[in-house]
Amino acid sequence: MNKPLDLKELMVDQAQLAKRLRQETSGEVMLDAASRGRYATDASIYQAMPVAVFIPKTAQDIASSIQITAQMGVPILPRGGGTSQCGQTTGAALVIDNSKYFRNVLDLNLDKGYVEVEPGMVLDHLNGTLKRHGLWYPVDVSTGGQATIGGMAGNNSCGSRSIAYGNMVHNVLGINAWLANGQVGEFANYANSSGVAKELGDFVKGLANTLQPEIEAHFPKVLRRVAGYNLDIFHPQSELPYTQDGGVNLSHLLVGSEGTLAYFKSLKLKLAPLPQHKVLGIVNFASFYKAMDSAQHIVKLGPTAVELVDRTMIDLARSNPSFQKTIETALIDHTAQTPEAILLVEFSGEAHAPLLEKVKALQELMSDLGLPGSVVNMPDSSLQKNLWEVRKAGLNIMMSLKGDGKPVSFIEDCAVPLESLADYTQALTEVFSRHGSRGTWYAHASVGTLHVRPILDMRRDGAQKMRAVAEEASELVRKYKGAYSGEHGDGLCRGEWISWQFGPKITEALSEIKYAFDPKGLFNPGKIVNPPKMDDTSNFRFAPNYKVIPLQPALDWSAWNVQNNPVTEQTTAPGTGGDPAMGLAKAVEMCNNNGHCRKFDAEVMCPSYRVTRDEKHLTRGRANTLRLALSNQLNIKDNASSPLASDAVKEVMELCVSCKACRRECPTGVDMAKMKIEFLSAYKKRVGYSLRDLAVAYLPKYAATISNTPLLPRLLNLRNHITPIAKLQEWIMGISAQRSLPIWKSKNFWNQKASSDYQFTPEQLAQDTDGKGVVLLADTFNAYFEDENLIAALQVLKAAGYRVHIPNKGMRKTGNACSKEFCCGRTYLAAGMVDKAKETLGELVDHLTPYADKNIPIIGLEPSCLFTLKDEALVMGFGDKAISVSKQAQLLEEFLASKAKVGKLKLNFKEASKPVLFHGHCHQKAFAAVTPAMELLKLIPKAEPKLIESSCCGMAGSFGYEAEHIEVSKQMAELSLLPSIRKSPDSWVVADGTSCRHQIADGTKREAVHIARILAAHL
Ligand SMILES: Cc1cc2nc3c(=O)[nH]c(=O)nc-3n(C[C@H](O)[C@H](O)[C@H](O)COP(=O)(O)OP(=O)(O)OC[C@H]3O[C@@H](n4cnc5c(N)ncnc54)[C@H](O)[C@@H]3O)c2cc1C
Ligand code: SF4
Ligand code: SF4
Repeated sequence: MNKPLDLKELMVDQAQLAKRLRQETSGEVMLDAASRGRYATDASIYQAMPVAVFIPKTAQDIASSIQITAQMGVPILPRGGGTSQCGQTTGAALVIDNSKYFRNVLDLNLDKGYVEVEPGMVLDHLNGTLKRHGLWYPVDVSTGGQATIGGMAGNNSCGSRSIAYGNMVHNVLGINAWLANGQVGEFANYANSSGVAKELGDFVKGLANTLQPEIEAHFPKVLRRVAGYNLDIFHPQSELPYTQDGGVNLSHLLVGSEGTLAYFKSLKLKLAPLPQHKVLGIVNFASFYKAMDSAQHIVKLGPTAVELVDRTMIDLARSNPSFQKTIETALIDHTAQTPEAILLVEFSGEAHAPLLEKVKALQELMSDLGLPGSVVNMPDSSLQKNLWEVRKAGLNIMMSLKGDGKPVSFIEDCAVPLESLADYTQALTEVFSRHGSRGTWYAHASVGTLHVRPILDMRRDGAQKMRAVAEEASELVRKYKGAYSGEHGDGLCRGEWISWQFGPKITEALSEIKYAFDPKGLFNPGKIVNPPKMDDTSNFRFAPNYKVIPLQPALDWSAWNVQNNPVTEQTTAPGTGGDPAMGLAKAVEMCNNNGHCRKFDAEVMCPSYRVTRDEKHLTRGRANTLRLALSNQLNIKDNASSPLASDAVKEVMELCVSCKACRRECPTGVDMAKMKIEFLSAYKKRVGYSLRDLAVAYLPKYAATISNTPLLPRLLNLRNHITPIAKLQEWIMGISAQRSLPIWKSKNFWNQKASSDYQFTPEQLAQDTDGKGVVLLADTFNAYFEDENLIAALQVLKAAGYRVHIPNKGMRKTGNACSKEFCCGRTYLAAGMVDKAKETLGELVDHLTPYADKNIPIIGLEPSCLFTLKDEALVMGFGDKAISVSKQAQLLEEFLASKAKVGKLKLNFKEASKPVLFHGHCHQKAFAAVTPAMELLKLIPKAEPKLIESSCCGMAGSFGYEAEHIEVSKQMAELSLLPSIRKSPDSWVVADGTSCRHQIADGTKREAVHIARILAAHL
C-alpha cells in the first residue's frame, strides 16, 4: 500500500523549483506570496497556499514541469477557471493554470460530430464557435462563461439539461493525457486501446470484475453521481449509458478524477445539434412538497430541463425593480400570493408545433395531478431568455448576503431518485431548522439534484454545524438511495464521504487505481484518495487564526460591517459587524471566488482581464490580494503604513480601470472601483503625488485660468502638433506622446453664457415652472473642452419646455482667473486625493440638496461625473443630503426617456439622414442607463440606433493617457469597440463619455458625439 503524501510536512525547495522551471520551460513562474495566494482558493470554503504557480505556454512546458516536479517530489495541481466548489483546486502543490494559453480547437469534425480541444478552452467560447455550424456542446454548466473543458472533465460536471444530454462522462469521447511518468496515454475506446492506456485499462477492469457485486450494491442508480472514480465503466450503474454502443471508453475513468490521475492534454467531445426551438411551461405550485412530488411525473413528458425556483427566490426577484416584471411573467396571477415554488419545464426540438403540444400535455398532466390552470405557457424565446436570467440572478441576490454568515455549499448537490425528492427536501428542511439555519432551494428538479445552501458562519461555529448537517443529510441520502456527491465533485469537502458512499472495498480499489496511475501520489494529493476531514479548519479560507488588521479606510464601508441572522437573513445595523477595517475587509471578503469576472461574452467586467488573461488583473485576483493583505497573509515588507499601500496591492490595482462593472455584474457586488480609491488614497500617502497626479486632480481648478488667459490655449494646444513637446511631456509627466490631449478653447461655456438666464433658487424652480424646472450640471470637461454639448442640452431642454438652473458659485460674463464652478471631485478621486474630493463634492452636494429636496431633477451629461453623485457621494459621510441628491441625479437621456415613457416629452424630431451607433460609458452601463439612451434615440425617425456590444473603451478617465498604460488601453478599445465603428463607416457614433469620444477619435479618426448633440441636431 502506498503511503499518502503528508502535505503538512512537505518540504520543497521553492527557489530551486522556480529556477528549474524558468530555465527549462518558456512558461511564467510565480513564487511571491501574493501570486500564490491568488491561486490558493476556489469557489469553496477552503484555502491552501500553492508551492508555486506555473503558467505554461506550450505543451512541452507542461511535460517538462511534470518531469521536474516528479524529480523533485513536488505535487502538481492542474487548474482551469478555478470555479470548483469543493476545494478541488486548492493544494500545497505547483498549481498549473491552463486557462491562459491552452484555449484552442484542435480538430472540428462536422461529419462525425466531434471536436477536440485543449483543456483551457472555456465552454461558452467553444459553443460560440460551434453555433455557426448549428451545433453545441450540451453540458451547460451555469459557469459556462468561465469553466474550462479540462476543469469540467476533471469534475465530471453536469448542466441544467443533463436529463436530456447527460453529464461530462456521457459526452467525452477521448482524452489524451500526461501520466506521472511523463508518458502520454491515449484514453478512448477500450477495445481499440493500446500502450499505457490499455495496461491501465486492463488493471482497472481486473479490479472492476472482482468488485462487480460491490459496484452493483454501492453505486447509486442515479444520473447524478460524480463521487470517486468511475469504476463502474466496466459495469455501468448510471441511468444513462456511458457510451452509445455499450462499449467501454477509458477516458471515462479520467472524467471526474479531479487532477489526481493524469494531466489532460486534449479532450475529444461529442457534439449535439443546437435545438432550433424551445418552449417553456411554467408550473405554479401552492405547496413546495407538491412541486417536488410532481417532478417525477413531469420528466415522463421528455423535457430538456425542469428547474426549480422557490418562493424565497421569487420574492427576492419581485422585490427588485429590474426583475419584477420578468418574474411575474411566470406567475399565473401576479396579484395573488406568491406561489411556494415554480418549475420551469423546457421542451426543445427541431419544430415549434410539437413543442406546443408538449406544453398542452404538461397542462393536462397538471390537471390530472389536481392542479388545473397552474401552467403558464411561454413560447416566446425572448421572454424565456429573460426568465432564465432571473433564475440566475436570484442565486446572485442570495449570495450577496452581507455579514459573516454565508450560504455554504457542501450538501448542495446530493442527488436522490425523483420519487423520493419531496420527502428528502422536506426532511432536509427540518434538519436545517434543527441547526438554526434555513435553505433556499433551486435548480435541477429533473434529475433530483436540488441546490440548497444553509447559512453558516465558518469563522465561528460553522465547522461544527456543517458536520452535523452533513451527517444528517447523509442519512437521508442513504435512506433514499441517492448520491451524496451529485454535481460539484469531491475535493476537500466530500472526499471523506467516498468511503461512506461506496464502502471499504471500493474505496481501497480507488486507492489502487490512484497509485497505478500515479505511484508517487504527486497528482493533486488529498483529493478522492486519502482526503482530509471536510471540517478540518486548518484547510479553511477563514481558519481560526484569520485576523483582519485594524485600519481606518478613506470611505465609509459601514454598510458591509454587519452580521446576519441565518434564518431571517436580516442584517444588523451598519457598523456593528465587528470588522477591524471598519467594513472594508468584509466588503473584500464578499468575493467567493465563483469566477464570474472571467467571462468574456457579455457586458463589461473585467476589461483588464479580457486583455491580459492574468489572474492578477481580474476582479477576483484583486479581491483575493486585498483579503490576504488585510489579514496579514502576504508577509508585506515594503514599509507600507497600511497593507492597502503595499506593492502587492499596487501590482493588482495597476490595470483596474475603475469601470465599476464589477459593482453591478459581480454576483456578490464586489466593488473594486471603490476599493481602488482606498488603495490610491493609501498608496499616494506612501509615495507622494506625481506631477501627472497633480495635473489631473487640479484640472477643474485651473481650467478657467488657462481658458481665459489670452493665447494660452493656443500655446498649450501646440503639444498636439509638435512631437518633441509631446515626447518631453511624456518624459516629464508620463503622459503618452501617442495620445492627443483635449483641445483647450478660449471660448468656453462659462464665458459665453449670461448668468441671469440660468440662475434659479430651488423655490423659484419648484413654484414658477409647474414641474418644468431642472438642474443641469456643467462639468469641467463639457464646460471647457466641449461646450457645444452643454449648449445642445440646453437647446433640447428648452425645446421641451424646461427651465434650467446651472449650479455655480457666481457666474460671470467674462473671464475670471479663479474657478467658481462646482465640481464632483472625480479628478481628485482618480489621483487618490479623497479628502480633496470630499471637500469639493461636499460643496456640490450642499448646493444641490435644496433642489433635490424639492424633487427637482438633477441632470448631468458626463456619466463619470454624474454617477459620482449616485455612488461615491453616498460613502463620504454626507448623510441624508447625499441620499436626497442621489435620488434626483440622472443623465440627460434618463430624464428625457422617463418623460417620453409617460407621454410628457413633446419633441418632434426630424428624420435622421444616417443610422446611429451607440457606445455606452462604463459607468452608464454600471447604473443601467444605456437602455434609456437607446429608447430616446429610437424617437428620432430612421435613426435605427444600434448598441455597440463593447466592454470598456480603455480610456477610463486618465488611464488611457498614461504612458505605461497606452498599449493596454488600445487593446481594450480594439476588443470590440473600434472594430464595430470601423465596420459602420456611414453612421453617427454617439458616446456620452468624454474619454470614450477621445479614444474613438484617436483610434478610428471618426468624431463621436454626445447624445445631446444628436438630439439637438434633429430638433
Ligand atoms: C456559481 C457556481 C455555479 C456552478 N454551477 C455548476 C453547474 O451548473 N454544474 C456543475 O457541474 N458545476 C457547477 N459549478 C462548479 C464548477 O464551476 C464546475 O465544476 C466547472 O466545470 C469547473 O471548471 P473549472 O475550469 O473552473 O475547473 P477547475 O475548478 O479549475 O478544476 C476542476 C478540477 O479539474 C481538474 N483539472 C483542471 N484542468 C485539468 C487538466 N488539464 N487535467 C486534469 N485535471 C484538470 C482540477 O485539478 C480540478 O480538480 C458551479 C460553480 C459555481 C461557483
Ligand atoms: S469578484 Fe465577484 S465575480 Fe469575481 S470571483 Fe469574486 S465574487 Fe465572483
Ligand atoms: S472596476 Fe472594472 S477593471 Fe476594475 S476590477 Fe472592476 S471590472 Fe475590473
